This record gives sequence, C-alpha cells and structure tokens, in this order.
Amino acid sequence: MKSFRIFFASAIMLVLSCSICLAQGYIGGQHIDSLPKIKENGVIREYWGNTDKYLFQQNGNLLILAGKVLDQEGPSAKPSDARQLALSAIDAAAHDTARLISTFLQVYVNGRLSDALKHLAETQVHHPDQSPHQHAKPEAVEVIKLYNDGFIVRSESVTLGFDLCFTAGEQKMLQDNYIEKLLKLCDALFISHKDPDHCDRRVIEIAKRLGVPVFGPQDTGIDYVKGCRSDDFNEMELTLKSEKKIEAIAIPGHQDELQNNIWMITLPEKRTVVHFGDQWKKEDVQWLKEIKQKVNKTVDVLLIDCWAMNLEAMIKGFAPAYVIFGHENELGHTIDHREAYWLTQYKIDKMSTGIPSIVMAWGERVELYLYRSN
Ligand SMILES: [Zn+2]
Repeated sequence: MKSFRIFFASAIMLVLSCSICLAQGYIGGQHIDSLPKIKENGVIREYWGNTDKYLFQQNGNLLILAGKVLDQEGPSAKPSDARQLALSAIDAAAHDTARLISTFLQVYVNGRLSDALKHLAETQVHHPDQSPHQHAKPEAVEVIKLYNDGFIVRSESVTLGFDLCFTAGEQKMLQDNYIEKLLKLCDALFISHKDPDHCDRRVIEIAKRLGVPVFGPQDTGIDYVKGCRSDDFNEMELTLKSEKKIEAIAIPGHQDELQNNIWMITLPEKRTVVHFGDQWKKEDVQWLKEIKQKVNKTVDVLLIDCWAMNLEAMIKGFAPAYVIFGHENELGHTIDHREAYWLTQYKIDKMSTGIPSIVMAWGERVELYLYRSN
C-alpha cells in the first residue's frame, strides 16, 4: 500500500493521499489465464485461431498494468505521464465495443470497487493530529470515486453516498451482497436525478431494506426517495440513519426537463461538498454562474460531471477549493458520449480556473485535509 502527499500553496491547503492494492496478475480475485496451449501437429500455437482469447487476455494484461501504475501514481492535480497513460489504457478498454463487458473490463471494475469497499470497511477518517498552519484548522474529508458519477464522501463523523450506481444497462458492475455491505456503512444517500445511471433502483431497494435514507429530487417516481427541492435556496436539515442531522441545499437544477438536484451538503465538520449531478439546461447557466449571490457558502469540494454544460464557468461559479470529476467511461452511454479520462484531463489542461482539479479512476480515493483560517 503506497501513499503520497501534495501541498498546494493556497488559502486552503490540501493534502492528498491515495493507495490501492491490486495483486500482480489478479483482478478482483480472478487470476489472468495462463497462455493457451493449442497444439497443432505437436506444436504449441499459443493464440493462433483463437482471436477472442487473444483479445481477452490482451485487454486483461493492459488493465492489470494500468492498475499497477495507478497504485504507484495516485490521483493528482499534476498527474504524471505514466498515470495519464494508465488512465488512457482503461479508456481504450472501455471503448472496445467488440468485446465490451465480456472482457476483463467488468471484472476489473468489480475488483476496483471491491477494493474500495474493503478500504471503507476497514478504515476510518481521522481528524488530523497536527496542522502545519498556525492559524488554520484542518478537517479531513475523504472522497472515494466509485462507478460512473457515484462517490462516497466520508468525514470523521459521517459517510454519505452520491449517485451510487452499479448497473450499466443489463450488466451488474457490483453484486447485491457487496452493495449491501457498502450501504451498511452509509448514513444517507443523495440522488441528483432519476436517470438510471444515477438513480439505480437496485441500490435504492437495498437502501430501503437497510433503512438508509435516500434524498433526491421530487420526480423520481420512487416512494422511498424523499423528494427535496430548495427553490428558495435555503438550507434544510436532513436526518441521517444515525439520527445525526446534516445541513443541505437541494439547488434546483435540471437535466433538460428532469429535475436535477445539485446537492450542497455541509458536513458536521463544517466543510461543504457539492455534487453537480447531470446539470444540463441553458436557462440555468446564468444563475448557476452567479450561485454565490444565492448561496452564501464556501465550497470545499466540487464533484462535477466531466461533460457539464459550460464546465469552466460552473467551476468558477462555485469556486471550490478542489474539483473532482465524475461520469467518465459510463458504459451505458454510446461511444460518442462515453467521455474518457483523457478527455477530462484535456479539458482541465485547457481551463484557467487556478483550482486543483483531479481525474480519478474507478475505486480510487483521496483524503483531503481542508484548512480554514480561524
Ligand atoms: Zn448521467
């Protein structure tokens, strides 16, 4: 297990650490097959005549190597070439329509998500012991990226899930028993909008069975989801499974005609996280650019979909200390709208926000030490 830290010389200092374990040759507990031994007249032909097997193992090899590189080069606002190459390798596998899902990719995603779950179950977020800044108080917040636009945000006192989705079309990226283990660790789930790549009915059914509250927009059509909409932009108090209270604003955005809640959650540690959902409506752009006039909050972390309308203006509008992107490589999307990690990095490189912006792969995590002046 490796970890590393980066310091940003800004009013709010962030320290990131990342570590992921992936045993060599294994993905999600499955060992990559040994070379096939197809004999012809007593001579081993390896893959000759077996194209599917060849491509299956080639993809598997690519993903295993990518995983090893990501273990060594975790999420960073200044990713190394090696990390970008590893992410691009995953992009390539995720855009292989010929052998999509049936290849190692599904196993790979499952393995990364299982590793993230293991981490969540076995560790806790601790308040930083020391602050390198004499007049600044740190709070630790961990962000774990799961599948698609799904994130877990964890502090010392709460664990919250955002748009947890583990289903791509008919394919299960994580089995029910793993989802159940994950949701048992959550104090509440937040849903941005009703589309199935954000509002996964499998996840909500399990949350209902476990009594984990689910907050979403008003038009999901699911009784168990508590419909919220802050048309007045005022803060509301939501009750978590643990009976703890949390301050939230369901910023009333849209994806076309659907309600899209841009959740702005202030953790008990007084750090604010925003999840952007799939905000996509021209009429909302202007007031979102001026969101600070409606909501007087300092945003610490913005989780934003990589293809958001007016991406740079939205980031500048919320002015977070830190940006993390989501929604890359959604396998339920067609290839033209299955935005890759490389494309997010390209957009970041073209922007001039001055805000640390990080591309994360499935199952990766960062621990942020968020400082505020006293
Ligand atoms: Zn979506």
